[in-house]
Amino acid sequence: MKPKIGFMGLGIMGGPMAANILKAGYPLLVYNRTPEKAQPLAQAGAEVAATPKALAQAADVIIVMVTGPEALHELLWGAHGAAEELNSPKAFINMSSVSPYYTRAMAQRLAPSGVNFVDAPVSGSKKPAEDATLLILAGGAPGQVAAVTPILQTMGKKVIYCGEAGQGSMMKMMVNLLLGAMMEGLAEALNFGKLGGLDLEAMLDVIFSGPLNCGLYQMKADMFRHNAFPVAFPLKHMTKDFKFVVDTAYQTGAPAPVAHQLLHLYRLGLSHGLGDQDFAAIYQVLNGLVKP
Ligand code: NAP
Repeated sequence: MKPKIGFMGLGIMGGPMAANILKAGYPLLVYNRTPEKAQPLAQAGAEVAATPKALAQAADVIIVMVTGPEALHELLWGAHGAAEELNSPKAFINMSSVSPYYTRAMAQRLAPSGVNFVDAPVSGSKKPAEDATLLILAGGAPGQVAAVTPILQTMGKKVIYCGEAGQGSMMKMMVNLLLGAMMEGLAEALNFGKLGGLDLEAMLDVIFSGPLNCGLYQMKADMFRHNAFPVAFPLKHMTKDFKFVVDTAYQTGAPAPVAHQLLHLYRLGLSHGLGDQDFAAIYQVLNGLVKP
């Protein structure tokens, strides 16, 4: 019999990820702070838990996909938190993007409970979450990751083992550093060209006709064409992740000069009210369409 999955956090990513678990035939119990977001899943056949504690009590495998450390702390150790219901042989999988440091601290704090802790953030945005084509960056004891891999595979096209707990988060920060830098690079170059009198379509043609062509730029090109940035990956979450990148770089001693600049730029995006737009809206910070 398939284990019962308890899924907490039904936002842009968690909603479709939980839906894919249900589609794969696992019994599903969900919880979201804002209860209305659980309705589509309830209509599709999921049970809805009243609290994180009730969810953890009833589920065999508890998955969390929320904003970051504050939300995780609330769900685990806040009022009616899940932590006291975690025990062996249950598994707890954090798929939210947090720092490797926070992940290791969370794993240590949960260790006395005996729960199998897996660190499994994802690479890929709203569409891959809907299509179950995420890349899942798994950290934890190899046997514990292997035990939950069939469940992870219902949400992604590939599960990549990254090392012990914390290394999934380290991989996630590495890839988001590259993602944030590539997006800012495109935005800066297009704005540079625009102010020098170049046509946007001609610039995109040059980029797409050579080795700089890539899936990310193809996917975001229409946002630049229309100067509209409907959210897939919110700029506020990219800003959060750059804070984790910079913190991690201090801990490891890695030079990260661009990450420091990008943290500042994405933060400017927040102060310009762009937090809930897609992170490609960094273009609007650069081109001055949004006044400080
Ligand atoms: P989102 O749409 O903003 O959803 C955030 C979720 O966290 C919601 O369920 C929200 O509940 C919950 N939450 C926030 N604060 C909470 C608190 N204090 N207590 C309880 N629940 C709380 O975010 P998302 O885009 O799905 O992202 C989720 C995670 O995936 C983040 O770590 C993000 O960095 C990562 N990620 C996102 C993408 C992407 O493209 N969007 C891609 C890869 C990874 P409410 O509904 O009540 O607000």
